[in-house]
Amino acid sequence: MNCLFCRIIAGEIPSSKVYEDEYVLAFRDIDPQAPTHILIIPKTHYDSVMDAPPEVVGRLTETAKKLAVSEGLAEKGFRIVVNTGDEGGQSVKHLHMHLLGGRSMQWPPG
Ligand code: AMP
Repeated sequence: MNCLFCRIIAGEIPSSKVYEDEYVLAFRDIDPQAPTHILIIPKTHYDSVMDAPPEVVGRLTETAKKLAVSEGLAEKGFRIVVNTGDEGGQSVKHLHMHLLGGRSMQWPPG
């Protein structure tokens, strides 16, 4: 298995887990870009959002919303990001949603 996030799901690589259920794993980003920076991934491998069915994307979004509440981000606001493909800045080719919060976000993103 050469997918980094599949190896995290399998427990071969440690992660700072914040949530897990039958379908989804969420863990803290190793290189946080905000005070709270969590990655939410499906346990089934999809290279990107382009390959994933709507229910999978919905589960990631619903998990991000729950974590925004439990991490204390919901009131002030937060950002969810799904980098896709090379020009989208996707470095890990396993679908993942970034949940970022705890500071004011800039727009446009770089
Ligand atoms: P992206 O650039 O959108 O593909 O996001 C990949 C994210 O994975 C980056 O924010 C990395 O910091 C993060 N990352 C890479 N390796 C690990 C790891 N072992 N544990 C947690 N986060 C990681």
